[in-house]
Amino acid sequence: TEKTMDTIVSLCKNRGFIYSGSEIYGGLSNTWDYGPLGVELKNNVKKAWMKKFVQESTYNVGLDSAILMNPEVWVATGHVGGFSDPLMDCKDCKTRHRADKLIEDFTGESADGWSNEKMMAFIKEHHIKCPNCGSENFTDIRQFNLMFKTFQGVTEDAKNTVYLRPETAQGIFVNFQNVQRTTRRKLPFGICQVGKSFRNEITPGNFTFRTREFEQMECEFFCKPDTDLEWFKYWKDFCENWLYELGLTKENLRLRDHRPEELSFYSKATTDIEYLFPFGWGELWGIADRTNYDLSRHQEHSGKDLTYFDQEANEHYIPYVIEPSLGADRVTLAFLCDAYDEEIVDEAKKDTRVVLHLHPALAPYKAAVLPLSKKLGEPAKEIYAKLSKHFMIDYDETGSIGKRYRRQDEIGTPFCITYDFDSSEDGCVTVRDRDTMAQERLKIEELDAWLQEKVDF
Ligand code: ATP
Repeated sequence: TEKTMDTIVSLCKNRGFIYSGSEIYGGLSNTWDYGPLGVELKNNVKKAWMKKFVQESTYNVGLDSAILMNPEVWVATGHVGGFSDPLMDCKDCKTRHRADKLIEDFTGESADGWSNEKMMAFIKEHHIKCPNCGSENFTDIRQFNLMFKTFQGVTEDAKNTVYLRPETAQGIFVNFQNVQRTTRRKLPFGICQVGKSFRNEITPGNFTFRTREFEQMECEFFCKPDTDLEWFKYWKDFCENWLYELGLTKENLRLRDHRPEELSFYSKATTDIEYLFPFGWGELWGIADRTNYDLSRHQEHSGKDLTYFDQEANEHYIPYVIEPSLGADRVTLAFLCDAYDEEIVDEAKKDTRVVLHLHPALAPYKAAVLPLSKKLGEPAKEIYAKLSKHFMIDYDETGSIGKRYRRQDEIGTPFCITYDFDSSEDGCVTVRDRDTMAQERLKIEELDAWLQEKVDF
């Protein structure tokens, strides 16, 4: 059968990757809770990002800044005045739409950077219809601010208004000097952060692709002016390779350079890495040359000198910034969609299996320990105890061995370790490979090191 969002959503729900939020209360639209397997998968994605972007990078360091920030931050960046979506309502069925998304969905044309007037004219000219009822009868476009607002302290007045951050990036910019001073870094260097962001999206949907609460993995890479385009290319390649190394299919990825008229006014170059989801192409990763825009704005609004002293050149300047910004939930969804497969095992017997071909580094469980019979539970549990000190391991002794293999295939466990009646004699177990279904006999004492090598990323 075809790979659809419905099959992915139902697998996620039934196997404990992702549930709908607040379900017993009838839910809260477009909120999702990561279950036991989902939390492992998403954590593994974040760990894989931190590993390549921070641990193995000689350039980058980490940060975890507060979600609530001084509201002046969002005035400086233009988010208070300008971070908004162009909205329009259908006059007939009263549904609300994002004008730019309507244009994109109907014509494939990107409306990034267009004025309201231009979008309105385009919608009329191309007879774009309400996807809900087919009407062409729309209201005018108005701008709607995407930031969630709340109050800090006991009085709910304008003075106490704070915002939930709509991106993690600004926590990095306001700490640029702290990090530079305390790590004594010289340019170029980057600061990386993983954390929640919030946007009051008008058209959330497509499962976890677009939600109002989501996690981002962002790197702000500071470099000398005029070296920015070189570094832009460097990080673009780096990001693309990260996805390939974790097994994402090349045919399902494409890089889309923003055309000059699409670029934000401060950006010199932007490329989106897009993935072909079952519902179509969607942005995974935005890589942007943000020039010295953010630091300049913060220097102006805070009154603090945010220049960097370049000893070699003996000059002060505001660094340029390359920003690769990736959604943790989005890329997790991409890995899930990419890994999903329904395989015919035996045509004659109409035997098929559902399998998630997740990279072992991402798989929720690295292995499952399965005693061939319940009678072998005790020694099998010893193997579980040993391996689970270093890895997430599942243990399952219920049902036939074939059924247990299939259950592990469906949740992406790369290896099944079967303890059988010979194991106490030869000190070996049978290890079955998820993808090839091939089996090999391995020494119990060597399992730990063997598995470590397999899950390495
Ligand atoms: P879009 O055009 O899809 O709204 P964007 O261009 O506004 O995205 P950015 O501001 O560049 O997105 O955010 C960087 C990354 O954060 C995106 O590439 C995406 O992976 C993730 N992201 C942004 N908004 C959401 C959201 N509402 N839900 C989930 N992930 C998101």
